[in-house]
Amino acid sequence: MNPIDDQPYRMLIDGRWQAGGEGALFPTYDPATGDVLAQVHAATARDVDTAVRAARRAYDEHWRDTTPRERARLLRRLAALFEREVEKLAWIETRNVGKPITHSRESLSAMPASLDYFAGIIPAVRGDTIPMLNHASVLNFTLREPLGVCALVMPWNYPMTLTLHKLAPALAAGNTVVIKPSEITPLSTLALAALFAEAGFPDGVVNVVNGSGASVGEALVRHPGVARVSFTGGTATGAAIQAAAAADVKRVTLELGGKSPLIVFDDAALDAAVDVAVGDIVKNSGQVCIACTRLLVQDGIREAFQARLETRLAAIRMGDPSDPQTQMGPLVSRAQAERVRAYLDIARQEGATPRSYPDPASRPETARGFYVPPTLLTTADNGMRTSQEEIFGPVQSLIGFKDEAQALRIANDTRYGLAAVVFTRDGGRALRMARRLESGSVAVNTGVRTSVDAPFGGYKHSGIGKERGLEAILENTQLKNVKYDTSL
Ligand code: NDP
Repeated sequence: MNPIDDQPYRMLIDGRWQAGGEGALFPTYDPATGDVLAQVHAATARDVDTAVRAARRAYDEHWRDTTPRERARLLRRLAALFEREVEKLAWIETRNVGKPITHSRESLSAMPASLDYFAGIIPAVRGDTIPMLNHASVLNFTLREPLGVCALVMPWNYPMTLTLHKLAPALAAGNTVVIKPSEITPLSTLALAALFAEAGFPDGVVNVVNGSGASVGEALVRHPGVARVSFTGGTATGAAIQAAAAADVKRVTLELGGKSPLIVFDDAALDAAVDVAVGDIVKNSGQVCIACTRLLVQDGIREAFQARLETRLAAIRMGDPSDPQTQMGPLVSRAQAERVRAYLDIARQEGATPRSYPDPASRPETARGFYVPPTLLTTADNGMRTSQEEIFGPVQSLIGFKDEAQALRIANDTRYGLAAVVFTRDGGRALRMARRLESGSVAVNTGVRTSVDAPFGGYKHSGIGKERGLEAILENTQLKNVKYDTSL
């Protein structure tokens, strides 16, 4: 039997599926109904230690010495198995995260190509030879080497795709990993882990420990056997992890929050800009770090933009995520839904006007789960808390601007810097904006699209380091300089 079908769900340590040391369980929920979906074994600090030691042993005994060709072959086999299992994995993701099945299928179907990409660029990970300025006889070169054990601390919004985008470059570079999925959404990561043995990865190369951030996450990031921590989640948690990792001078990559602007100038292709706004509020119910949550619209077209956006939002089909017609499901958890609703109260207190589409009263079937309808905060300004803090739900602030200088000032007036979108037909203006926006990703006349081949990561409080692209593998390596005097 596949261990993932055998409840309560166990965890993967050193190639064995096992219960937590104290036998403690925690529930995971179906956000569409609020019902318990499964019980999951929780790791103890001792289990974390066992997992890190297993990962280190696997690293020392074989994985660090595998050839690039062997690692690429295993990643490609994993890609093939993933392709075989994609439908099952998509359903697990939909049941546990609440995202519509069409969205789960779409995002997971792209994963084999991502694995293939990392398999393909392994040969690009290499050192240089450097002519020495004053010593002709000395051969001076660099070796790019793996780090050892990498801890991957994961969020709940895209458990499977984000895990794979951390996992693949870490393994490709020759590291082993211990993954801590979010306790809210552990199921798809466990299902993914079940594929590694079949793909042929040696025991201990990939380990998964379940449980809360406060216990399991903390024990993992503080473990002295961990060389690198890669984290995606909230900025406050990321900063705490960075501080914890500093004690052992661990490498840290942080993918944190965002408050991305969609800047629409009056010469823009308006419907295309509205498409991006709709996509960003609806997709995964707005629980997306790069989602544009501040809609900066030039004064002359503001009314037209709002009218078109409202018409589109009123037609959104919110409901059961397992229905292929559904465009928007629930939020991931009761706590997240309550947090978003609390921000709507803050918005009212601050003088913004929340307008929800469609009226939740017209959707009785959404009364049970953790649903929050798409909501626009009209009459917002950029100084409001709701314009400055990451809400992480289907809420966008609509803010006007006069000219390019003001648009840029408002766009950059945030502690975040993950992504920004500009809509204009003026090429010079688009490029000026692209250069001056304080943001790790900028898109012009299209939405922000993360792609496996391009580096992704934030400026300012949105993070440190890059994932995806060649940079993702390089972040998983360290560079050694070797000098060899050939005259002796
Ligand atoms: P967190 O940042 O708290 O959690 C992300 C991961 O870190 C989870 O696995 C969590 O464990 C773990 N974690 C929490 N505390 C620690 C710690 N001290 N040491 C090690 N690991 C830890 O996100 P939340 O799920 O609580 O969401 C809060 C907010 O974060 C959201 O509302 C949103 O604003 C933002 N967020 C941003 C994401 C992004 O993609 N940028 C993704 C998700 C959230 P566990 O949750 O299992 O206890």
